[in-house]
Amino acid sequence: MSLESNIRKDILEVGKRLNERFFIASNDGNISARVDKNSILITPTGINKGYLKEEQLIKCDLEGNKLSGDLEVTSEIKMHLAVYKNREDVNAIVHAHPPASTAFAATTLKLDEDVILPEAIFSLGKIGYCSYGTPSTSEVSISVEKEVMDSNVLLLSNHGALTLGKDVLSAYYKMENLEMVSRITMYTKILGNTKKLNEEQVDKLTKIKLEKGW
Ligand SMILES: [Zn+2]
Repeated sequence: MSLESNIRKDILEVGKRLNERFFIASNDGNISARVDKNSILITPTGINKGYLKEEQLIKCDLEGNKLSGDLEVTSEIKMHLAVYKNREDVNAIVHAHPPASTAFAATTLKLDEDVILPEAIFSLGKIGYCSYGTPSTSEVSISVEKEVMDSNVLLLSNHGALTLGKDVLSAYYKMENLEMVSRITMYTKILGNTKKLNEEQVDKLTKIKLEKGW
C-alpha cells in the first residue's frame, strides 16, 4: 500500500480526470482507498470531485465511523465499505456515471455478451450487473455485495459504474476502459454488421490474461 500522502494526491488526480472526461456531473461520483488494514480515505459529499483539496478527504474506519476530516462523507459510503469488507485484494474504488456505461446500465443489454475488443477481456473481465437500489440506502450495497466476489467492474442498474483496483489509478483506468468499450460497443450497434470475436479468439485472449496475471 502506498503512503497516505501519495494516496491523497492520487485521489485528487483521479477526481480531476473524472470531471474533465465528463464521467461525472456536478457533485456526482466518489473515490476511496485503503490507507491501512482498518481505515480508508473517501471523498466528501456536496463537492465537485474535479476541485478537491487534500484536507477535504475524510478518513473512516471500515464501519463508516469518521476518524478525521471536517466535511460530511459521501452518502454512497456503504457500497465502498461492502467492497472492502468482502475483497481483501481491493485497495481502491472509483464510482462515476460515465454516459455510455451508464446507458448500458439502464438497459437489459449485457455489455460482455459479445466480445468485440481484446480490452474487454484484458482490462474488464467479468462484469457484475447489480440490480437497482435507491441511492444512499443499503439497497445499493446489498446489490453490490452479490456481484463483487468475482468482478472488478460493476454496472449499477439505472445509476452508474463501480471499478475496483489494487490502487487508486488502476481502479480509475478500469473506469476509462469500461467507458471506452461501452462507447465503441454502442457505435457498433448503430453501424450494424458487427464483427464479433469468435470462441477461439476469446479463449486465446483469456489464456494470455491468465498467464500474465492481469
Ligand atoms: Zn452515483
